[in-house]
Amino acid sequence: MAAEVLSQHGVKVDVYDSMSSLGRKFLMAGKGGLNLTHSESFEQFVLHYGNRRTQIEPMLKLFGPDELRKWAQQLGVETFTGTSGRVFPKEMKASPLLRAWLKRLDDQGVNFHLRYKLVGWNEDKSLKFETPEGEKSVNADAVILALGGGSWARLGSDGAWVNWLNQAGVKVEPLKPSNCGFDVAWSSHFRERFNGQPIKSVVLTFQSFRQQGEFIVTKEGVEGSLIYAASASMRDEIEAKGKAIITLDMSPDRSHEWLIEKLSKPHGSRSMASHLEKTVRLKGAKVGLLHEFIPKEDFTDLEKLATFIKQMPIPLIAARPLDEAISSAGGVMFESLDENLMIHNLPGIFCAGEMLDWEAPTGGYLLTTCFASGRVAGLGVLKWLQA
Ligand SMILES: Cc1cc2nc3c(=O)[nH]c(=O)nc-3n(C[C@H](O)[C@H](O)[C@H](O)COP(=O)(O)OP(=O)(O)OC[C@H]3O[C@@H](n4cnc5c(N)ncnc54)[C@H](O)[C@@H]3O)c2cc1C
Repeated sequence: MAAEVLSQHGVKVDVYDSMSSLGRKFLMAGKGGLNLTHSESFEQFVLHYGNRRTQIEPMLKLFGPDELRKWAQQLGVETFTGTSGRVFPKEMKASPLLRAWLKRLDDQGVNFHLRYKLVGWNEDKSLKFETPEGEKSVNADAVILALGGGSWARLGSDGAWVNWLNQAGVKVEPLKPSNCGFDVAWSSHFRERFNGQPIKSVVLTFQSFRQQGEFIVTKEGVEGSLIYAASASMRDEIEAKGKAIITLDMSPDRSHEWLIEKLSKPHGSRSMASHLEKTVRLKGAKVGLLHEFIPKEDFTDLEKLATFIKQMPIPLIAARPLDEAISSAGGVMFESLDENLMIHNLPGIFCAGEMLDWEAPTGGYLLTTCFASGRVAGLGVLKWLQA
């Protein structure tokens, strides 16, 4: 986006990337349909940036969800709004958009240099790259770093920049997993039996978070959209207290009293599992969770059983590693940057995208702010060059 703004204004732009092709993570996001943005009102949209709203909102005012949809349309990619309000390209793919975009940049004179890995600066302040032909130095009037976070390192963003930016005196909050899964100390029986199974239509409560949705049981613990949505506060709680206990309502449309009434019916020779399925429609991994966490003697106490169905506590013991997360929290702190995203103590060097210190849930909030911050950095360079 920065290259687009600058090349439109006649600035000569060179884009360097360590990978052998561009936009790998963007293409990976396309595998899930490419959730570009969200259709809710702007006031609702900005609430998803928590205490970084102050810094993110002005960027989104310049280039927000509506502008993003128009931009995609100008590149020949129509979007649609899904039932959840999320916005996707009609083709549910990233490649047509990326192709059209790169062509436009190429037509505007942007030069691309692949397999150039930035490793910091030389003494004369030129950029230092590792390339297949050995080390290369590059001089530029201005530089925009858009090196991504630290998840899915195989797609290019490995967070290696944290060290050399720190050494250059830039304040960087350590990268942490965001929109990530969590470890649960499953018994080997539960793990083997339910690994990969979805737990659908439950209400997850954690602190002030309360949302209905679904997630997946993994060998290590839990992952999926409902878990990601609450992941920031769960991660912070584990960091502070060593664990986080989430509560699941596994029968959100039924009351405690209804459950007791149904469960009280005699079950004769039927097993408890089939009684639960017949009377309150609980089966599979949900019943597995009951067996996993309820002491055996409480299974016959219907009051307690109903309470567990409505408020099943699941202890999370660790966030999954950064490399597995959808995105990163942490990054270049806003106090190190001016309003044009230029680093205070490195004049002429700007930052954009996920490498900045903000986080947001999935739902299109990530890409929208990456795009918006790219534009702000591009406009910032323009002002810097003009000055
Ligand atoms: C599986 C998955 C699905 C996702 N789905 C969505 C979604 O549907 N909607 C959404 O909003 N977000 C989604 N995201 C998140 C979104 O893709 C990222 O937030 C976004 O791509 C970040 O953009 P960026 O330009 O800041 O960084 P990146 O896209 O990571 O790009 C950074 C680039 O910098 C290059 N680079 C890094 N270090 C160096 C270096 N030292 N030298 C040279 N080049 C370097 C990398 O090769 C890379 O090309 C998803 C993420 C994942 C992993």
